[in-house]
Amino acid sequence: MKEWDVVLRNVSTLDGMRGDLAIRGDKIAALGEVSGKSKVDFDAEGGLVFPGFVNAHTHLDKVNLLSRMIPQQFGKSLEENRQLLRSLKAEYSPEEICRRAGQVVDEMFAYGTTAVRTQADVDPTAKLGALEGILALKQKVTSKVDLQIIAFPQEGVLTAEKTELLEEAIAMGADMLGGLPAVEATPEEGKRHIDRLFDIAQKRDLDLEIQIDESNDPVQFLLPYLAEQTLAREYAGRVCATHCISLSAVPDDTAGRTIDAMAKAKMRVIVTPSCNMITKSGLAARRYNSITRVKELMDAGVPVAVGTDNIRDIFYPLGNGSMLRELHVLATSVRLTGYGDAERLIGMGTVEGAQLMGLEYGVSVGKRADLVVASAGWAQEVISGPETLPLVVKGGRILAWNRPEPHYQEWP
Ligand SMILES: [Zn+2]
Repeated sequence: MKEWDVVLRNVSTLDGMRGDLAIRGDKIAALGEVSGKSKVDFDAEGGLVFPGFVNAHTHLDKVNLLSRMIPQQFGKSLEENRQLLRSLKAEYSPEEICRRAGQVVDEMFAYGTTAVRTQADVDPTAKLGALEGILALKQKVTSKVDLQIIAFPQEGVLTAEKTELLEEAIAMGADMLGGLPAVEATPEEGKRHIDRLFDIAQKRDLDLEIQIDESNDPVQFLLPYLAEQTLAREYAGRVCATHCISLSAVPDDTAGRTIDAMAKAKMRVIVTPSCNMITKSGLAARRYNSITRVKELMDAGVPVAVGTDNIRDIFYPLGNGSMLRELHVLATSVRLTGYGDAERLIGMGTVEGAQLMGLEYGVSVGKRADLVVASAGWAQEVISGPETLPLVVKGGRILAWNRPEPHYQEWP
């Protein structure tokens, strides 16, 4: 008689299977009708099983900062928030960052997230302290979550000091380089920001994730330059563009040409729906934000992954780290509510993010057992259902089993 470590009974899969799923060690070992003994048996009651969520873009060093703010500091523009952040960052220490970020990662388990790509500020204010805190967290949670760290130049890259800090961050253990061209004084300097990042990335053989065009302003539009440079530098397949909101603000023919160039450069895109909707930036920006052209990008072969972005901080006080909430906002805002769209959304929140992070993901025999079970049996109901999931499995180990709603930070 066969023996398994975990058997999930009565599951549904996105490709229509109804049956059991058996795990041995850290892998999915059988699917279908599973007999034999198991150490742990979980009756999913027909609930959908799919890979754990991948939060492709967040800022764990900034989470749970609300209690440090005064009422007058809420609801400001992106530029004002960046100034405010500097004063808060002056009080950072690696230990308290590790603690704050750890609380949020714990919440993410209950929401079914098993892999996270986080930014960590590396700049003259934070220096290397934020990275140090996130690296310490990575050590602590290594068996529970795949954590990838991006050295993020929140204050720009155009001085020797800023460039050196990024190089030191990579030497310390950051996995790749981030970018934010809009933080430079002019669009021309924004282009130089991109150039400088490519210089470092090429020298050290690193991938890039650039936060770009977050303004919904057709004038602030550096995405074509990023695509052009990705091709010119022979960096196809190694560049990811996050946000890309201005792509929705430019005329259709400009957007079409840009998307074609992005597909040619094998770029990937990350959207952070809630944050993208609330960002206030630039006088010329449209009154209300949209999200990037998600459907057109995917139809052109540009993969789109999803992140929560900021969680209970200056930039987004309402963020809670739930990927299901993000998928719900995304579905509503870009009208992904048609037949098959819910399955597509779950793919964006799981497999697309995993590919971005170089993780092997999927519900098939031999794949790593990073899985969640929802209470609903079909995708649309999962997207509209509760954010806390009945079962979360990471590498064959149970991370969360019917946990109650996560608790939130204490207000002083
Ligand atoms: Zn971000």
